[in-house]
Amino acid sequence: MATEGGDERTRVDPAADGRADYDYTGGSVDRPGLVADLEALIDGEVRFDEFTRTLYATDASAYEVTPIGVVFPTDTADVVAVMNYCEERAIPVLPRGGGTSLAGQTVNEAVVLDFTHHMDGLVEIDADMREATAQPGVRLGDLNAELAEEGLKFAPDPAWGDKSALGGAIGNNSTGSHSLVYGKTDAYIEELEVVLGNGTVHRFGEITIEEWRRRADADTFLGRVYAELLEIAEENAETIRSAYPELKRNVSGYNLDRLVEEYRAVEAGDRETVNLARVFAGSEGTLGIVTEATVSLEPIPETKAMALLAYDDLITALEDVAPILEFDPAAVEVLDDVLLDLARDTSEFGELVEETLPEGTGSVLLVEFYAESDADGRQRVAELLADRQPATAVEGSVDADDRPTTDAPVRSFYAAEAHAEADRERFWKLRKSGLPILLGRTTDEKHISFIEDTAVPPEHLPEYVADFKAVLEENGTFASFYAHAGPGCLHIRPLVNTKTVDGVEQMRGIAEGATDLVLEYDGSVSGEHGDGRARTEWNRKLYGEAVFEVFRSLKNTLDPWWLLNPGQVCGDAEMTENLRFDPDYEFDPGFEPALQWDNDNGFQGMAELCHGCGGCRGPQETTGGVMCPTYRAADEEIQSTRGRANALRAAMSGDLDVEATDPEFVAEVMDLCVGCKGCTNDCPSEVDMAKLKAEVEYAHHRDHGTSLRERLFAEIDWTAKWGSRLAPLANRVDAIPGARTLLEKTVGIARERALPTFRRESFADWFEARGPAVPAEAAERRVLLLPDTFTNYTDPEVAKAAVRVLEAADVHVEVPDVGSSGRAAYSKGFLGAAAERAQDVVTTLAPRIEDGWDVVVCEPSDAVMIQDDYASLVSGADVDLVGEYTYSICEYLDVHRLDEAFDLAPDDETAPDEALVYHGHCHQKATKRDHHAVGVLRRVGYEVDPLDSTCCGMAGSFGYEAEHYSMSQAIGEQLFEQVDTVDADPVAPGASCRTQLGDREGAETPDHPIQRVDAALDG
Ligand SMILES: Cc1cc2nc3c(=O)[nH]c(=O)nc-3n(C[C@H](O)[C@H](O)[C@H](O)COP(=O)(O)OP(=O)(O)OC[C@H]3O[C@@H](n4cnc5c(N)ncnc54)[C@H](O)[C@@H]3O)c2cc1C
Ligand code: SF4
Ligand code: SF4
Repeated sequence: MATEGGDERTRVDPAADGRADYDYTGGSVDRPGLVADLEALIDGEVRFDEFTRTLYATDASAYEVTPIGVVFPTDTADVVAVMNYCEERAIPVLPRGGGTSLAGQTVNEAVVLDFTHHMDGLVEIDADMREATAQPGVRLGDLNAELAEEGLKFAPDPAWGDKSALGGAIGNNSTGSHSLVYGKTDAYIEELEVVLGNGTVHRFGEITIEEWRRRADADTFLGRVYAELLEIAEENAETIRSAYPELKRNVSGYNLDRLVEEYRAVEAGDRETVNLARVFAGSEGTLGIVTEATVSLEPIPETKAMALLAYDDLITALEDVAPILEFDPAAVEVLDDVLLDLARDTSEFGELVEETLPEGTGSVLLVEFYAESDADGRQRVAELLADRQPATAVEGSVDADDRPTTDAPVRSFYAAEAHAEADRERFWKLRKSGLPILLGRTTDEKHISFIEDTAVPPEHLPEYVADFKAVLEENGTFASFYAHAGPGCLHIRPLVNTKTVDGVEQMRGIAEGATDLVLEYDGSVSGEHGDGRARTEWNRKLYGEAVFEVFRSLKNTLDPWWLLNPGQVCGDAEMTENLRFDPDYEFDPGFEPALQWDNDNGFQGMAELCHGCGGCRGPQETTGGVMCPTYRAADEEIQSTRGRANALRAAMSGDLDVEATDPEFVAEVMDLCVGCKGCTNDCPSEVDMAKLKAEVEYAHHRDHGTSLRERLFAEIDWTAKWGSRLAPLANRVDAIPGARTLLEKTVGIARERALPTFRRESFADWFEARGPAVPAEAAERRVLLLPDTFTNYTDPEVAKAAVRVLEAADVHVEVPDVGSSGRAAYSKGFLGAAAERAQDVVTTLAPRIEDGWDVVVCEPSDAVMIQDDYASLVSGADVDLVGEYTYSICEYLDVHRLDEAFDLAPDDETAPDEALVYHGHCHQKATKRDHHAVGVLRRVGYEVDPLDSTCCGMAGSFGYEAEHYSMSQAIGEQLFEQVDTVDADPVAPGASCRTQLGDREGAETPDHPIQRVDAALDG
């Protein structure tokens, strides 16, 4: 986030390096005349190239529309210039934030204005007034991080707020799980600077009715805007009041009920002014473009407390919502049996469900209270449970005479409480388990969003859901029902295959039935995510012709030529048009996939898996995790997993003129993926971009050949072996004047990078020379310690430490002559060579494992290669066997608790008592094996601070490559910042990470954790 007028993000654009062979664009440029004109008019960037247009053709919805081009405005003047220019030529314009919308309101045939690049600044916080002013591109998460210092927050909390922007929250009138307390975004809008359809800028905010009338008298564009709004408040009030549902959650159509309500309140003497800016809330970019917003803020609650109630089934749970609301909770969230069953079957959530819920749980309600203190929170939970689940309420905690009660029967059969933050997080994790499970399908049938946020008054939920299930059944499908039961807004994503004509008809049938129900139960077609392409056509049905005409009249006045996001809210967008996957969709990768894909639909299923949620656009500071380091470094859509996935799918489904294996596509889209596997774990759908990349690179090599550098890096084991044999001569390259420049020019190895120092005596040589192992082979545990390339030839001290530690734990160690794991070849897309290596390693190790040996590796990426990636390269029972019995060194110690034998409890006087900051390897994070080292280090006496860090940016050979050096550094900067703010020695198991951290001026190369364990043993 940048602060307007200064304090710009210090990170440097990696593409600015003269050697970088990418500029985030590609393919042919559409309408170059338009580009030249716009470039001459504005300071911001203008991109109408094919790649960029593809990247902005989707959002998180089921829709796809290629825009005319994309502009990244720097200020309001840029926006005005674009709007004026487009208005003169009748070119549509579409403002965009994070592009996380679920209804298709952020895709259109228009010039897209992306505000998240430059117009993402915080202008001012007025803590006394509890107000903040910001540009529309600021992420809510970043805004709240700043506000937290004042004990304040922007209260509406859409689930993806760490990735979505303020302009988007205004555009969608967003809210979140706590809407029971906070309502929607409209309630917090104080003033908006808006660029209107004719290119004029105006500030809307509080206004007295007298002033409003005075302005409405002017015979100007603005005068007509004020007059139109006045007419709505005065003439159409009754029509609007009777047509809008009485709901906390309704974001369908324009936000006119609030306008009418505020006007009435002024007339009744309950308020002095009406806030006209709030009309823009939920207008989805169709009425004006917000260029600055002043919003009011709320204090952060002192603390929270939660209760979990378990039920036999969903309907019983929903019957309990109305009585629970009498206890004034901040949130009531529901999960149904479909989700719980799916969660039980996953490795990620299965344990959580089993541990948290009793057998027979068919549905769960999570109830959260805001509280002034822990005691207050406990009291509120106790009061709820005394009434709703007395059997599990803490006896005596609530005075029976002095507590709120309901007449409702007890329906739940079990309850649990959570007060500490970690316990509450577990409950919320359970609630959020739904999305990844539902969205992880690689089949053609997908749980798509089109009626996923219908809402009804909560007291109608039981009948409404029963009827909804019948609608789904009639249409031959099912869905799970979860989310915001408190305000009556459930997420319902039916399983539909829109690649077939039948599927599209099924979609329409469901929507017809669902909207009938919504009307029957006095609900709303959209309780949260907006109209967009999915729901615009239902607004006529929901509100009736008269209100729909009011919408159109308002639109006509503010945007007379319908240039602002045309077709949406009150336009002609149809639910089944412009689907991302429609019956005409075709997919042809242009090559035969070489890897094994065990997911449904194989390679194609994975290439189509990203649903565009934008989860990979979250920053390190607020989102954490690994995904996606290149986006975090470059702040560019094409550098996010979503950008890559969209570009790849477009190239393979004929939406791009280039093929996925074309050099330009590979350089711009695939090569920059560092293969960290962050997305396989952090993405809710577990998109495996590293594996997709390996396939594309392999096919690219086949079509276009390989370079010397690629071969050198793919065969790094061979290169390192010769480096070792020729050491110390091989290590003198750095000292020869001009040698590094020559190396960069000829081979493409960045001149700034220190080359690895090869050791004359490899680890394997040392091991052989040191004589028989102790303990002898008869020991209870026997380990084959694999000499991976780096520990063998450049960093043997790591492996030596591993030997000492293993032997101290009474493990017999042998070093097998097995060669490299094939990791380097795999990373560079040499899949044939990698498969050969994999087969060789498996054939060598399997009999030893059957004989009782375990395999241990010091380098995490090699360990994960064997544990995880081999299954994509070779098949057979031996692959699974070898994967199962292979461990990284600290994993081995931890899993078998071998370090406990050292008896180095932290209070032991021989324990090291040193503070360490631990940067885990991203491949281990992706495979959930990252925690082991921290556990071991702590048990041998270190104080360890595990970083929530992303990839180090070195990523094997990536950081050595001249054209990627700047990107590698930009990624690394994020880690450097984290490491440097902690007063502790860094440790990192990955050789690349240690090199990256040690390659900074004045920095020492960190240790591998096993070296610190070894040091602790040494006393
Ligand atoms: C996993 C997931 C969970 C979600 N959970 C929630 C939730 O809990 N609650 C919720 O409300 N939504 C939710 N959403 C939907 C979406 O994330 C939110 O509505 C979010 O606030 C949209 O912000 P954005 O920056 O992505 O906006 P975008 O999608 O970029 O834009 C949203 C709309 O606002 C308009 N717009 C953007 N900027 C401007 C501007 N400067 N001026 C005028 N109009 C503008 C756009 O044209 C578009 O119509 C969720 C989405 C996903 C994928
Ligand atoms: S890659 Fe994953 S996180 Fe990113 S947009 Fe796609 S589905 Fe969402
Ligand atoms: S593998 Fe890493 S760099 Fe590549 S897309 Fe996934 S998270 Fe981003």
